[in-house]
Amino acid sequence: MNRYRYGGLKILTNCSQCGSPLVINGPVLKQQCNSCQNEAVFSKKFWNGLIVQLDKNIVEGSKSKGTSDIVYDGFTFKISWNLFSPECNKCKSLLPIDDFSLGGAIRCSNCGDFSEFMDAPSWFNYADTMKIIGADSNVQQNISSFEQVNPISMNCPNCAGALKISQSIKRVTNCEFCSSEFYIPDVIWNRLHPVTVARTWFVRYEGKPQWIIEMEKRNEEQKLKYARILQKKREKVLLKDNERQKDILATEIKESGAKWKSTVIWGYFASVLAGIFAIGFAIIFISPLSKMVGEKLCDGEYIRKSVPTRKGYSIFFYCKKDGKVESMDNKMVLAGLGGGVGLLCSIWTLTSIVLFIRMKKKRQLLQEQLNQKLLEIDVNSGKVKN
Ligand SMILES: [Zn+2]
Ligand SMILES: [Zn+2]
Ligand SMILES: [Zn+2]
Repeated sequence: MNRYRYGGLKILTNCSQCGSPLVINGPVLKQQCNSCQNEAVFSKKFWNGLIVQLDKNIVEGSKSKGTSDIVYDGFTFKISWNLFSPECNKCKSLLPIDDFSLGGAIRCSNCGDFSEFMDAPSWFNYADTMKIIGADSNVQQNISSFEQVNPISMNCPNCAGALKISQSIKRVTNCEFCSSEFYIPDVIWNRLHPVTVARTWFVRYEGKPQWIIEMEKRNEEQKLKYARILQKKREKVLLKDNERQKDILATEIKESGAKWKSTVIWGYFASVLAGIFAIGFAIIFISPLSKMVGEKLCDGEYIRKSVPTRKGYSIFFYCKKDGKVESMDNKMVLAGLGGGVGLLCSIWTLTSIVLFIRMKKKRQLLQEQLNQKLLEIDVNSGKVKN
C-alpha cells in the first residue's frame, strides 16, 4: 500500500429554508445559504461516514469515480467522488503532490493558482491520518460562507442617505437614517453574494486505514472471546476427566489391600491343591521319589510293593527293621502330602510378602497421582491459582 491515498469529493445540496443550491467546498459543520443566509448544519457522523466510505472506495478500488445521492441530516447530498490525484481547481492539471509536505497552499505548476493544503478538522475520528486539499480556505473555522467582499455604497431610495451595505445585511432592510424598509436591488445583492461554484476537493489518507485497523481489532477481540469460550469448555471437560480419574484412583487405592488379600487366599488354595496333587501324589506314585522319601522315614530297609488289582494296581510301603516288617503307608501319605503342601505354601508365603511390598509401593504411587489430580481439580475449578 502506498503511503498516501487520495480521493476527491464534490458535494451539492439545497438550502432547507429557501431551496437554493448549497455548495459544500470542504468538510464543514455549518454552511450559510447565499440567498437567505440561513445556516445549514451537518453532523460529524455524516462527515465521518462519508470520509470512511470514500476511503473504502479507494481501498477496494473497483471504480475510479462515481456519483451517489445521500439523504442525511434532512438534506439530500449530491455527491460526485473520484479516486484521482488532486487536481488544480482552475485548470484541472495535476497538482505537484510531492510538494505537499511543505504545508500551506500548493501552487499549480500550470496556471499558478493556489490550492489549500490543510489539516483535517480535529472532529474527524481519524483526523490525524487525513489532510484536506483544495477546499475553501475558511473550512478551518468550520463554517463555509460566501467570499468576503467589501461593503458597497448606495443611497437610500427614500431619503437618499448614504448607506454602506455589507454582506451581513438582510435583503429587506431598514435605512439607518429614515428607518424606512427597502429591498436591496439585484445588482448590489449579487455583487455582495457571489454565487459559489461547487468544486472538487480532495482528501489525502495516510497509512493503514483506521477503519481496517478497527475492523481487525474487532475480529481479534471476537477470536479471543471465542478462544476463551473454548478454553472454558476444555477446562470443564478436563475437570470432568480429572474427577473421573480421581475416582478411579481412589477406588484403586481402596481396593488394593483387598485385592492382595484375595490373591493370597487363592494362592494358598492353589498351593494346597498343587502340594497334594503335583508333589504328594508324585512322591507316592513315582518310584524313585518314593524311595527318596521312604529311605528317610525308615531307618531299616525300605520296601515298595506294587500289587495289581482289578482296577489297576495298589501301592504298599513297608519298613523292615530287626526282622520285623511294618507298614508305613500312613507315614508315606502324610509325608508326601504334608511335604508337598508345606513346600508350596512356604514358597507362596514368601511370594505373598513380595506382593505385599509391591502393593504398598503401588498404592503410594497411586496416592501421589491422586493428590496431583486433586490439585489439578482445584486449579481448574478456580479454587487455587496456578
Ligand atoms: Zn436559503
Ligand atoms: Zn492550475
Ligand atoms: Zn433613508
